[in-house]
Formats: sequence, C-alpha cells, structure tokens
Amino acid sequence: MDFRLTPEQQQFRDSVLKFSHKELSAGALARAHDPKYPWDVAKKMAKQGLLGITIAEADGGQGGTLMDAVLAIESVASACPRSADVIQAGNFGPIRVLAEYGSSLQKQSFLKKLLAGEAVISVGMTEPEAGSAVTDLATKATRDGKGWRINGSKIFTTHSAYADLVLTYVRFGPGVGGIGSVLIESKQIRRGKASHFMSGEEWAELHFDDVFVPEEMVLLGEGGFKKQIAGFNVERIGNAARSLALGRYAFEQARAWALERKQLGRALAEFQGLQWKFADMKLKLESAQLLLYKAAANADRGLPSPEDTALAKIACNQAGFEVANEALQVMGATGYSQDVLVEYCLRRCRGWMIAGGSVEILKNRIAESVFGRSFSQRGD
Ligand SMILES: Cc1cc2nc3c(=O)[nH]c(=O)nc-3n(C[C@H](O)[C@H](O)[C@H](O)COP(=O)(O)OP(=O)(O)OC[C@H]3O[C@@H](n4cnc5c(N)ncnc54)[C@H](O)[C@@H]3O)c2cc1C
Repeated sequence: MDFRLTPEQQQFRDSVLKFSHKELSAGALARAHDPKYPWDVAKKMAKQGLLGITIAEADGGQGGTLMDAVLAIESVASACPRSADVIQAGNFGPIRVLAEYGSSLQKQSFLKKLLAGEAVISVGMTEPEAGSAVTDLATKATRDGKGWRINGSKIFTTHSAYADLVLTYVRFGPGVGGIGSVLIESKQIRRGKASHFMSGEEWAELHFDDVFVPEEMVLLGEGGFKKQIAGFNVERIGNAARSLALGRYAFEQARAWALERKQLGRALAEFQGLQWKFADMKLKLESAQLLLYKAAANADRGLPSPEDTALAKIACNQAGFEVANEALQVMGATGYSQDVLVEYCLRRCRGWMIAGGSVEILKNRIAESVFGRSFSQRGD
C-alpha cells in the first residue's frame, strides 16, 4: 500500500493548481459574495478539460477517475473556494447520474452544453414533507399517452434559481419501488418564492403543474431509486471534498496569519495555546482526507460504495466545519470579517453537514453496516 499520489496524479494536480492560481485567485472574494453562478469560470474550466473529468470520452468527457475529480476540487478550492462549486456541478452532481444511466438521446440532448459550461443541471429530491425521509416524496408521475404528467414541488434545490435542467425524483407508484426520475427543462417549471441559504447561494421553489414529460425523458423508471442513490453517492463525495478543501483553505489562511500577526510582542504562532489548535486542525484534516481518498480510490472509474461514502462525508463535513471555526477563532475579528474568506468557508461547511444526506442520516447508514441489519426509523 502506498499513500502517495501517482506521478500522473501529481502532474494533473499541479496543472490544475497552476490554472487555478493564475485564473481564479484574483476574483475569489468577490465570487464568494455573489449569489450568481460563476458562468465565466465554468467556461474557462470547460476549456481546461475540468468538466466531465469522470465522464466517458465517448460522451464528451475526459474518461478519468473519481480521484482525479477530487484532486481537481481540492486544487481549485485552494485558489477560489466558490469555484469549487463549478467542479462539483460539472463532475459530481446530477451530471454524473445522467452520464451513468441516461439514454444516448438524453446524453446527446443535454451533455454537450453542460460540459461546455453553458448550462447547469440540478437534482430535485427534497420536498416540504420529504427531507431526510426522501422516500416519502409525493411528486407524482401519471401516465398520459406516450409520456407522463408531473405534479408536485421541490425545495432547497441547489442551482434551482437558474438551472437549465432538473433531474427530478418522482413517484410512478407506491412505496420505495415506485420512485424513479425524469428530466425536466426549466421552461416547463414554475419557479416560486426565491430564497437564500446562509452560504449566500440562491434557491427557488420549483413547481411542476401538470408538466408533460415524454417517455424518452424518463431517466430511471419505477424501481430506479436504488440506482439513483448509488449515483448520488458521487455527489456526496464532491460535497465531502469541498468541505475538506474549504476547511484546508481556512487553515492555510489562519496559519499565514499566525506567523504574521503579533500580540504582546510575539507572533501568534509562538503561543502554545494556538499551536495546539493547529495540531488539532491538522489531525482532523489529514484523517478525513484519508477516508475521502479511500472512498474515491476504491471507486476508481465506477461509483463509490455507500459505506466508504458515508464515512468520508461525515469525517470531511465535521473536519471542514470544525477547522474553519477554529481558523476563524485564531484570526480574531479579522477572521469574522467579510474581507477574508474564512467566515465564508465556515458558512459553506455548515450547510454540507445538512445537504446530501445529513451527518445523522449517514451515521444511521454506518450503524446498519456495524450491526449488519437495518433499523426502521419510522413511527407507527
Ligand atoms: C446547502 C444545501 C443544499 C441543498 N441542495 C439540495 C439539492 O440540490 N437538491 C435537493 O433535493 N435537496 C437539497 N438540499 C436539501 C437537503 O437534502 C435536506 O435539507 C436534507 O435532506 C435534510 O432535510 P430537512 O432539511 O427537511 O431536514 P429534516 O429531514 O427535517 O431533519 C431535521 C434534522 O433531524 C435530523 N434527522 C432526521 N431524521 C433523522 C433520523 N432518522 N435519525 C437522526 N436524525 C434525523 C436531520 O439530520 C436534521 O438534523 C440542500 C440543503 C442544503 C442545506
């Protein structure tokens, strides 16, 4: 076993680092405070081959591994935390589920623009009465000739304020077995009340009022839920990678600050009380990274395992949040100020503990592996 990156991985990481520091560092603060999607960054990344890293070359991607995509997130975030969302959208999220399970027609219709950084796809799972209990979703697909009529609403959807396409979880029939998904274009969707997360990201309610979806736009029909969640584990790895990367960004800012800032005639780095904070932060980052790399490396060109993913996501979510919080403390009022990105990293990391399978729900998943059985969470 060798914990070092291969020469090819190092070369790829170095090239992304070079691109990111040259092209993205300068506008990092402004981008973090702009709720709009950074389309200029998306187009630059498309040219650089950073969208579709794990998507097959035949579908317009780069044919790389999940580990390559994780390295891309880490490298981009080290220069511009907000731009890491573009790597997520172009590699980890519903784009990957579309590439994994979509028909040739579906891929031909949508992947080109998504991979060019000219469009973005959302995943609509969460509903007002179906959050952690996602299998209680009520958005209904009713047969209508050669297609389906969709009725229902989604909330909290990332990119929902401007997405061109929504991979929408729907109910074709009763129970978990009745769940599948369809592709719905934004022109068919009524956007309701707009809102913002604590991170500053915009989202809008999505309403489907008798939307007609032809059979060709069904991604996974009845019985597709398990496959969807298997694909969704890739999204969770991207969520974990960004948590860790933003924690590391905050750590690096605090480290530089501790070397420069003097109080009582000494650099902050000279105080043992702060040195131990840095040792603890380092330990959290390094141990979470091992679980993240394990999950990504084990997946190779396929999908990560549910257990590897759950362990990696919890560890990275907690490390990212706790490290960003300590980094902010070390920087005092400067860390709390919106003139630096540490407070932004903290706000973003907080959200990832809830999004994409909360820490608690993933702990339930791990407990099932520990005891080799499932525990019903349902009330009577
Ligand atoms: C930043 C962000 C981005 C998001 N992006 C998307 C998106 O793109 N698409 C989408 O569909 N959704 C998205 N969501 C929604 C997200 O998936 C839900 O918020 C999440 O599933 C939790 O649902 P809830 O908020 O309704 O909380 P609830 O389900 O009401 O849970 C409330 C609390 O109870 C805990 N809890 C619930 N059940 C259990 C249990 N059985 N055991 C222990 N604890 C439990 C939860 O962990 C949570 O802490 C996003 C959310 C955030 C914050």
